[in-house]
Amino acid sequence: MSIVNREWHLAARPVGEPTASDFSFVSAELEELAQGQILVRNDWMSVDPYMRPRMNDVPSYIPPFELDKPMTGSAVGTVLASRSDSIPVGTTVLHFCGWREYAILDKSAIQVVDPALAPTQAYLGVLGTTGLTAWAGLTEIAPVRKGDVVFVSAAAGAVGSVAGQFARRLGASRVIGSAGGPDKVRRLTADFGFDAGLDYREGDLHRQLKAAAPDGIDVYFDNVGGDHLEAAIGSMNNYGRIAMCGSVSTYHATSPVAAPRNLSLAIGKRITMRGFIVMDHMNLMPTFVPRAAGWLRDGSLHADETVVSGIENAVEAFLAMMRGANTGKMLVRL
Ligand code: NDP
Repeated sequence: MSIVNREWHLAARPVGEPTASDFSFVSAELEELAQGQILVRNDWMSVDPYMRPRMNDVPSYIPPFELDKPMTGSAVGTVLASRSDSIPVGTTVLHFCGWREYAILDKSAIQVVDPALAPTQAYLGVLGTTGLTAWAGLTEIAPVRKGDVVFVSAAAGAVGSVAGQFARRLGASRVIGSAGGPDKVRRLTADFGFDAGLDYREGDLHRQLKAAAPDGIDVYFDNVGGDHLEAAIGSMNNYGRIAMCGSVSTYHATSPVAAPRNLSLAIGKRITMRGFIVMDHMNLMPTFVPRAAGWLRDGSLHADETVVSGIENAVEAFLAMMRGANTGKMLVRL
């Protein structure tokens, strides 16, 4: 069967915020399936902040995107044709060949997911590495203890919106979130169960955080870095813990960013700051997924999505997510 695939390539290494000209939308004929391979029609793909550092040619925990090659990232799709005895046509699979309509994959490159447990796109969000990032951060990296005051940044986003709810579930007495703009801040308390929301665009985050947590914070789940990390250190109680998950405020930076100016406070306050990558915590996935699916089913976990339609709009979805257009997980429906 002859199929023309439409796929996104990185055409140039962006300087600062990427523009449309840094990407190219390419049509290419698919090859024939080899023995053992499957053909997948992607139904959903994920756009994530970590993809921005991957556009730079620098060594990291994940290799940079190659120029003029299909970009990669998480996707969920349906098997259209199979030359593998164990993966029948119609199976729903999770894999890493997003940014394209179709993917030819070996069995070793896919994970079969259960569409009966939740809508399949949930495996790119709350039931996937997004949800696990929040869970691992608050159980293994900066464990929440009963009565803790917890602060989460980018709190209306994919990881942040579930991190706030997990913090509560783990026994936090007060959960504070920050986000950009009044609508997102309203949703923190209305939809995601935070006790207080801060609008970082309104300025003076230090003052806002101190007002929301007059007795200080015990755990900070850092998605943003920069001024947020500095404010959290300023409000941190003795023996506080910081899960360093992401630093989205710095991803477009064209020169090294300043350290938190108050970093030395970490000494006297005996703060533990620990970075982590979710891929090192995949051992938690088999127990996390059924539990989180149960919380979704009983309504005690609220996971939002912002959906953009069409592979042709995937770059715009990525750029919009980086500018804060999403609430919950930003997804592209193909
Ligand atoms: P989000 O859904 O949170 O989307 C990104 C959000 O970042 C935007 O919606 C925007 O929200 C916010 N943002 C963008 N620029 C700024 C800025 N200058 N200051 C403050 N906020 C900003 O993405 P994810 O939930 O997927 O990821 C959240 C963080 O977690 C990222 O840093 C990401 O790299 C990290 N991450 C780390 C993982 C790990 O293994 N360590 C795994 C997964 C994610 P707003 O409108 O509020 O500004």
